[in-house]
Amino acid sequence: MNSPNEKQKIVCVLYDDPVDGYPPKYARDDIPMLTAYPDGQSMPSPSAINFSPGDLLGCVSGELGLRKFLEDRGHTFVVTSDKDGRNSVFEKEIVDADIVISQPFWPAYITTERIAKSPNLKLAITAGIGSDHVDLQAAIDNNITVCEVTFCNSISVSEHAVMMILALVRDYIPQYNWVIKGGWNIADAVARSYDVEGMNVGVLAAGRIGLAVLRRMKPFDVKLHYTDRHRLPAEVEKELEVTFHKDAESLVRACDIVSIHCPLHPETEHLFDKKLISKMKRGSYIVNTARGKICDRGAVAKALESGHLAGYAGDVWFPQPPPQDHPWRSMPNHAMTPHTSGTSLSAQARYAAGVREILECWFDAKPIRDEYLIVQGGKLAGTGAHSYSEGDATGGSDEATRFKTGN
Ligand code: NDP
Repeated sequence: MNSPNEKQKIVCVLYDDPVDGYPPKYARDDIPMLTAYPDGQSMPSPSAINFSPGDLLGCVSGELGLRKFLEDRGHTFVVTSDKDGRNSVFEKEIVDADIVISQPFWPAYITTERIAKSPNLKLAITAGIGSDHVDLQAAIDNNITVCEVTFCNSISVSEHAVMMILALVRDYIPQYNWVIKGGWNIADAVARSYDVEGMNVGVLAAGRIGLAVLRRMKPFDVKLHYTDRHRLPAEVEKELEVTFHKDAESLVRACDIVSIHCPLHPETEHLFDKKLISKMKRGSYIVNTARGKICDRGAVAKALESGHLAGYAGDVWFPQPPPQDHPWRSMPNHAMTPHTSGTSLSAQARYAAGVREILECWFDAKPIRDEYLIVQGGKLAGTGAHSYSEGDATGGSDEATRFKTGN
């Protein structure tokens, strides 16, 4: 635990500002103010915020709205987007950092090597959900607390996953492109377009996001399926008329569409490999808003090229940013996005407030909410103890340097 009033160095890695500069013009004047999450969990509750909800907070100039708060308390706050490689700002600044804040969208990989050269590091905060960019085993071994803002963007992601299911099955993106190209090619546009109604739709993991996807897909009159390490309450299974499968193989065999919603940890790394994908029926679709590394990149690209998969929509890649020659940029019948699902302006307001809540607890030596904890006291804790397994899933993240160098 931290001693109150100790001055600390906080290094925060955020994605770049918009190419047209910051601040942007906003499309709307406000965002809905929510009072609680669907399971009753309370919203982030810092003592105050220094930003307007709906502003762009997740990029470098947005600074998660934290600078005034941190500097008023006498802390040093460094914000950068330069995160990959030995000469990056992050690599240089982490060595005497007490706290690192980073986002899954533009992950500052906190590898065992970086932890080894950062003796002061005590707290790694994920401004979002999913702390697989931190070597959790090294955090466990070095008594670093890891936490994330549980639930802050779970509903945002579930909405994106439903959008991707519809975009793939109805084949929306090629149809949109015919309009842009000046065509009216209806036959071309519908040659791969189907209705979702009546299809078997499954989620791999029915946690906060997976369950929200099931609830959102139910009104489409589909047949719902799921697998998870822990089963949903019987009344929820009944309400959703959802079929439980004992493992991923049983799930994928039964489904036309599989949406992935588990964390990335050693148990789930490359779960969707050539073998598992081959058990899916021809013409299946995969949606992956969880983590890129849960799928084998080569196996996905080959299954699309052969036509075994009819489509793949993902919001997540490995590494991030992916190099220009990453096969998911060019494979056929994909509907990829650059990890945006959990960083809508609405979500940013929640995770910025959640990060501030965590920092206030840390500085004032108050307990961080259990639901935010992933690692504490040298072991998996809170949500981490439920949803993750020990070990490291950051291997290979060095490849992210290729985005910058183009090699
Ligand atoms: P939750 O912790 O609520 O849910 C995760 C679920 O995955 C839990 O039900 C957990 O099971 C289950 N699970 C873990 N391992 C396995 C496994 N081996 N097989 C089957 N199920 C497993 O998290 P969220 O739903 O909020 O988020 C899920 C993930 O989505 C995050 O970890 C993150 O990687 C990703 N995410 C992506 C975002 C984006 O912007 N694209 C934003 C937010 C999250 P149990 O707890 O029952 O053991």
